[in-house]
Amino acid sequence: MIAFLSGGRELLETARRAAESAPRLPLAQVKLEAPVRRPPEFLAVGLNYADHIAETGMQKPTFPIFFNKQSSCVNGPYDPIHLPRASEALDYEGELGFVIGRRCRHVPRARASEVIAGYFIVNDVSVRDWQRRAQTMTLGKSFDTHGPIGPWIVTPDELGDPHTLDLKTFVNGELRQHSNTRNLIFNCFEQVEILSTVFTLEPGTLISTGTPSGVAAAMKPPKWLKAGDVVRIEIERIGHLEAHVINEPADTARI
Ligand code: ZN
Repeated sequence: MIAFLSGGRELLETARRAAESAPRLPLAQVKLEAPVRRPPEFLAVGLNYADHIAETGMQKPTFPIFFNKQSSCVNGPYDPIHLPRASEALDYEGELGFVIGRRCRHVPRARASEVIAGYFIVNDVSVRDWQRRAQTMTLGKSFDTHGPIGPWIVTPDELGDPHTLDLKTFVNGELRQHSNTRNLIFNCFEQVEILSTVFTLEPGTLISTGTPSGVAAAMKPPKWLKAGDVVRIEIERIGHLEAHVINEPADTARI
């Protein structure tokens, strides 16, 4: 997929032509994997919706709070999420994500759309006690299975404006998050400008843009995810992710 994305418009056209005559399978007969299984980088932004900042009681940031999810946490769009043995404070974050399609640096926001290969949904699954244990959020954001992405990549020409998309998160059918990407404080293009000021962005790099209000951590008491729960995230014009929460299986230890 990363090689395909870096082929740009030309390769996309080739694929489009090939698809015209290719045999088709019903979606129900296939298993969708994460569209990028091992990205070079997996970045995300904290506190990027005003209503989410209000529910956390934090100050509105003057600069985006970028952090890393380890690329090893990528998970398929309908694969189970582990409730880790190490914590009960398991939370969801419905987010718009995008993937870089071209090696680039110093990209001004006005040209950022040229380096974005497509958009997808992210569940920025978070283990809140581990997230707050240290100055960086890395560990609490990176447990295995805690990076569901997909269900596919929607190309910019198909999606249109990425900053007008309705976003909803449901837990067991209960609506927990409902916002629109127009409410992003730092939008996708500003994020590309800032990140690419610092380092070269590679094809396949994933960026998750932040979550609106309604996370479990902000509820009193917090409604942490538990085994048996179903988390569904929908974004307009993209589709949905749906994950069952399961107890971390006994066989995850490899020593
Ligand atoms: Zn997030």
